[in-house]
Amino acid sequence: MKIAAVRTHLLEHKLDVAFESASMRFDRRAHVLVEIECDDGTIGWGECLGPARPNAAVVAAYAGWLVGEDPLQNEKIWARLYNALRDQGQRGLTITALSGIDMALWDIKGKRFGVPVSVLLGGRFRESVRAYATGSFKRDGVDRVEDNATDVARYWTEGFHATKIKIGFGVEEDLRVVRAAREAVGPDMRIMVDANHGYDAVEAIRFGQAAAELDIDWFEEPVVPEQLAAYREVRARQPIPVAGGETWHTRWGMREPVETRCVDILQPDLAGVGGFTEAKRVADLAALHGIRVVPHVWGTAVHIAAALQFMAAMVPSPVRVNPIEPILEFDRTHNPFRQAIVKTPIDHVDGVVAIPDGAGLGIEIDRAALAEYRMGDA
Ligand SMILES: [Mg+2]
Repeated sequence: MKIAAVRTHLLEHKLDVAFESASMRFDRRAHVLVEIECDDGTIGWGECLGPARPNAAVVAAYAGWLVGEDPLQNEKIWARLYNALRDQGQRGLTITALSGIDMALWDIKGKRFGVPVSVLLGGRFRESVRAYATGSFKRDGVDRVEDNATDVARYWTEGFHATKIKIGFGVEEDLRVVRAAREAVGPDMRIMVDANHGYDAVEAIRFGQAAAELDIDWFEEPVVPEQLAAYREVRARQPIPVAGGETWHTRWGMREPVETRCVDILQPDLAGVGGFTEAKRVADLAALHGIRVVPHVWGTAVHIAAALQFMAAMVPSPVRVNPIEPILEFDRTHNPFRQAIVKTPIDHVDGVVAIPDGAGLGIEIDRAALAEYRMGDA
């Protein structure tokens, strides 16, 4: 079995109403898929986190080292590709592109042996996971306090028991938003907040101290990911558990945040940290240091399927009769191709998502949808 071709698919949908996190404005949804075809006709799919065109360019740069290789030797391929661009690319697009490739190789391996990736990773500890609703961005032309309260109330009626609210726009306004959300859903819904590294340490500490009474599960990316000392300061000087890690790449990028306890909850992204191969190492590193892992997810059904396979195989830490279960990030913002690109959409029932048990990632791609949402040349 040899790799015959490596392709990327750029997908795009222009939004009628733009929305913002603290660090980014979204006027369109754009994601990139990786397709690896083997000489026996087996096809694997992956996805890269981050800007679509730049990721596709780096995947194309890696392709020359992939064609002709045995796709089952995924760890060997990972090491060779990483080493090929290591001197200029220990984190960033080199790793997000490598993540999409690695994901596709594991999909191929699962299909080759007729088992889900979760079985290849060591076995399925669970067949479903609870999901939390990610939404509550800042939308153009609406009152943010009211808009967010309406959003979280809707998630509750849809069956979600947990939701994450975007903050980082200003401490006082953010507090009004989170307070209104808590009042809208009552005490039983779990609420997390995500500053998308929009605060400095002073603001983050002030927010955390004031918001703690609102019963917040975690405080995600309070400060920029390069400022590890600021992370530690935020964790030490306010009571909400700190989460982060979606932009820390590879085991080397995770080592210092884990060893110096920058976070209570580590959030590696399957499409960013280096694929399944590296996420497994990172989860082991976190477990070694007693840090909880909750994968970050932001993408299409391919990315969600990969996260589900990984979460199925996550070893409970600690192992106990009723273990702490991982929770799936489930994006509720508008994206018409998120699920359209797979023949069986991955949906929730009362906030619970079943983990596919088909071979590889357990999904089948709908090529008509890939064509429908293909990114224009502009
Ligand atoms: Mg986040």
